[in-house]
Amino acid sequence: MINELLQEQIEYYQQRAPEYDEWFYRIGRYDRGAKHNQRWFDEVKVVQEALNELGTGHEILELACGTGIWTQKLLALGKTITAIDVSAKSISLNKRKVKSPKVKYQTQDLFEWEPDREYDLVVIAFWLSHVPPQKFDEFLDKVAKSVRSGGRLFIVDSRFHATATAKNHDYKNNDKIYQLRKLNNGDTFKVIKIYHSTEYIARKLSKLGFQTNANMTDRYFIYAVGEKL
Ligand code: SAM
Repeated sequence: MINELLQEQIEYYQQRAPEYDEWFYRIGRYDRGAKHNQRWFDEVKVVQEALNELGTGHEILELACGTGIWTQKLLALGKTITAIDVSAKSISLNKRKVKSPKVKYQTQDLFEWEPDREYDLVVIAFWLSHVPPQKFDEFLDKVAKSVRSGGRLFIVDSRFHATATAKNHDYKNNDKIYQLRKLNNGDTFKVIKIYHSTEYIARKLSKLGFQTNANMTDRYFIYAVGEKL
């Protein structure tokens, strides 16, 4: 059951790749009007500032890099960036957007990924909420192994709010670990979506030896910086 759900999630993101950025840039079904959109972008800025505080010159690993919204932001911080995603379409859009020899891409399923080295900074944007509970600890354990001692882990993800998603998405998940998501053409997929609290993230990272500062923006995002002790 869980493996079928994960395959459906992969297929959804593969097909959604060309329209993925509409969510982040509040376009089409994600345009919730000037006031909500402005609030969204103001909160993105808060997260971006927290990321920028991590400084420059890092060897970065970006997990589930997608179409490059965050890869692009990481260019200023990274000496090198290793960017992993399962979706070949997303990676091709990422390359087109980012256009940098600093970035090395790997097309890979993160549930089969094994860390083979340590990085100064590992970044996970809008992915942990798509990791099923059954696989969460095992995945986070591998993430922890990929951060060097004294290195940092940066996480940003969704807080629950009705106006965060598309106008035609049913956001009530009734205790299920998945929600139904639509593409612009109306095709519907089950996608895992779990809204984690900052306390939960901090507790999990603490068990893995991270000192964590986890925060929320007013409405839309949680974000956390963990330093590996
Ligand atoms: N980090 C990007 C961002 O914030 O714009 C993308 C986030 S998007 C919500 C989730 C990403 O996870 C998609 O790019 C999708 O292709 C990728 N993904 C889905 N299942 C995956 C898997 N099993 N292994 C690796 N990546 C996966």
